[in-house]
Amino acid sequence: MKTVLAVVGILAVLLGAYLPARAEEAATCPTDATAPAETPVVRVPTEGGPAYGGMQYPRTVNLGPKEVALTFDDGPNPENTRRILAILDRHCVKATFFMVGIYAEKHPDIVREVAARGHTIGTHTWSHPNNLRHFSMASAQSQIRRGFAAVESALASAPVESRARVAPFFRFPGLNDSGHLISWLGKRNIATFSCEFGADDWRAISSAEVRRRGLRNIAYVGRGILILHDTKPRTADMLSSFIITLRQQGYTFAQLVPQEGARDLAAAAPDPLIRPVHKAEKEPSATLGAVLKPSLEPATALQ
Ligand SMILES: [Zn+2]
Repeated sequence: MKTVLAVVGILAVLLGAYLPARAEEAATCPTDATAPAETPVVRVPTEGGPAYGGMQYPRTVNLGPKEVALTFDDGPNPENTRRILAILDRHCVKATFFMVGIYAEKHPDIVREVAARGHTIGTHTWSHPNNLRHFSMASAQSQIRRGFAAVESALASAPVESRARVAPFFRFPGLNDSGHLISWLGKRNIATFSCEFGADDWRAISSAEVRRRGLRNIAYVGRGILILHDTKPRTADMLSSFIITLRQQGYTFAQLVPQEGARDLAAAAPDPLIRPVHKAEKEPSATLGAVLKPSLEPATALQ
C-alpha cells in the first residue's frame, strides 16, 4: 500500500511539474459555462513593501494581457458584500477585499464568509480617514495597525485556511498615500496597492454608468487591478453583467495572493502588523491582547 501511495505521489509531483501553470482554466465553472472553474492566482512579492498599481506607481502586479484583478474596498457591508460574494461564486471569480477595521469588528461573520469562500483579504485602515497623509505618524500607524488587528480578530475563531486569507496587503483610503507610511509598511513587509483603473462606483451614478465606465477604463489600459466597492448597491447590481461582458470581450480574471512565505515574512518583522497563522492557537492570549483587541476609542476621535 505504501509503495502504491508513493508511486501515486511521485506521479502527482511529476504531473504537477509538467502541467502548464494555468491548466485549471480548461475546467469549466459549474454555474457559468464560459468561465474556468478556478481563478488563476498571481503571486505578489511583499518583501520590503513594494507599492503596486500603475495609476500611482511605476510598478504593478504581474498580470498578462487582458487579465484583470478585481478588488473590493470599504466592506464588509451587511447589505452588499454577500450579494457580491454570491455573484463571484456564480462566475467562479476570486477577488481581493480591502476591509475597514470598524466594519470587520461589526460584521465578523461576513469577514469569515469572505475568507471561507477563498478570497484574499487586505486591509484599508481602522475607520477609513480619507487623508491619512495628514495624520500624525502615530495616529496614521494606529489606523493601519488597528485595521489589520480587527480583521485578524474577526477570523480568530476561523479555521487556519481562513486566517491565512489575511494577506500583507494594504490600500490607502482615497488612495491618499504617503512616502513615510509606505516606508513604514515596507519595514513590516506589507505591500501597498493602488490600481490601474476604477469604475467611479463611489460616485452617485447609475449602475449602468458604473458598468460603462469600468469597461471603458479597462479597455483603455488593457490589464490591471480594478477598484470597486462592496459597500455600493450599484456595484452589486452591475457586477454579474460586467463579468459576463468582460469575458465576452476576451478578458480573464486573476486573484492577487501573497507570494509563498509572505505572511511569515511580515509576521517576523520587528513590530509586525500581522501574526503568523500557525502559531495563533498556541500563543498566550496576554501577548495577543494588545494586537487582537483594539481599544474601543471612537473612530471620530482619530479624524
Ligand atoms: Zn476606501
